[in-house]
Amino acid sequence: MSFSTLGLSAPILSAISEQGYVTPTPIQAEAIPLALKGKNLIAAAQTGSGKTATFVLPILELLASGETQRKKRARALILTPTRELAVQVCQSIEAYGKHLNLKSMAIYGGVDYAPQKQALIDGVDIVVATPGRLRDLYTQRAIHFDEIELLVLDEADRMLDMGFIEDINKIIDTLPEERQNLLFSATLSRQVRELAKDTIPNAIQLSV
Ligand code: AMP
Repeated sequence: MSFSTLGLSAPILSAISEQGYVTPTPIQAEAIPLALKGKNLIAAAQTGSGKTATFVLPILELLASGETQRKKRARALILTPTRELAVQVCQSIEAYGKHLNLKSMAIYGGVDYAPQKQALIDGVDIVVATPGRLRDLYTQRAIHFDEIELLVLDEADRMLDMGFIEDINKIIDTLPEERQNLLFSATLSRQVRELAKDTIPNAIQLSV
């Protein structure tokens, strides 16, 4: 099994091999082709399984293959429980997307609003955010979700443990209904399955 069989295009395959990756991990091999077909997925995946690339690669592929004209408003939204994870996911987007012309940014609390607002005004394709600050920015009308085509809930169980359910639900309520959804969680607890049931219709459940 190699990355070239998964349906990814040349600029992304080059970036993957520049990272030194040769073989997709089991979750990548199973989930990436389905994600590229536009399926909704719920995956039980631990840190270390290669889950970040599992959602970042299809996002890059989908955004890079569509329109060439960049929109100012974000087209993909990734929610993470912590600032550290948001920054890490952004670093992965930059690494795998180094041959593409897509812009990403991390949004998290505990820092000034102004630089985040300015970056949103300048325009961004992919937003990686913790739920609380993202909801604040939405309430302040600093971010618009009308162009969102794809939502990722990363480490969903941790986000619920940290009490983000209300923020997550409020954010999801404002997203376009027609969108692709990918949920990753170390455990598919009852609460995670409930969140998935309410927000992710017709999902394929994977556990690798
Ligand atoms: P993650 O589960 O997304 O936190 O990834 C765990 C680690 O595995 C990260 O350091 C990745 O850079 C690395 N990684 C992800 N996919 C692969 C792969 N297919 N081959 C080798 N390393 C990988």
